[in-house]
Amino acid sequence: MLNTSAHQTTPRTILVVEDEPDLATAIAQRITAKGWTARVASDGASAVRAAGQLKPDLVIMDIMLPVMDGIEATKRIVAERPVPVLMLTARDAESDKVMGLGAGADDYMTKPFSPRELIARCEALLRRVERATIIAKNLENEKVLDFGSLVIDPRQRIVTFEGEQVHLTPTEFDLLATLARKPKSVFKREKLLEEVWDWPDASGTRTVDSHVKALRHKLGSAMIRTAHGVGYAFEPPQDDDADER
Ligand code: CA
Repeated sequence: MLNTSAHQTTPRTILVVEDEPDLATAIAQRITAKGWTARVASDGASAVRAAGQLKPDLVIMDIMLPVMDGIEATKRIVAERPVPVLMLTARDAESDKVMGLGAGADDYMTKPFSPRELIARCEALLRRVERATIIAKNLENEKVLDFGSLVIDPRQRIVTFEGEQVHLTPTEFDLLATLARKPKSVFKREKLLEEVWDWPDASGTRTVDSHVKALRHKLGSAMIRTAHGVGYAFEPPQDDDADER
């Protein structure tokens, strides 16, 4: 066998949660070929346990799973520790996608998919999270974005809304922070894809829409305004308290 270590791949651990053994094996083989480490879990409950022990860099999560479904498992995993999740959905129903994204998934693929495309998406997701982490570390001077009831801390990657910490996925966080750095400015969806996703994909603008839906679900619909046919803008919350002060 050829030694491919010359590629200098960053060591990565990927948790593959899939109950179809053939598919799980195929995905794991691709990951191993990439020089990453793969661990397979075949139901939702063992996925949650494995994520706790393994602290993976990324989770590939099937939605339809025995014992505990992929939505619930993802919620539990990301509540413990922020980790990018790529969800696998068997049905092309938009509700599945939105549900998945709302639960804490960063991206999704509909079965059947090409394993090559899956690995490419994993790479893009890992690269994005890594880049965001580097940017955050370099932003020694970046101020906390304080909008009264909404506070965004880019360095700690923490969002507080009405006094409570809100669990956002890495993607949701980056999307919100990007919009909130320029309040009221309309960002084109293509621009958001470029800045947040670093991923030029024609079908990608629908991904932006799904994540905006998930953010609105968590923070209220008024926070992100739709500029029809163009994109989105962040609208700072109107705090009654601020007016009275
Ligand atoms: Ca399944």
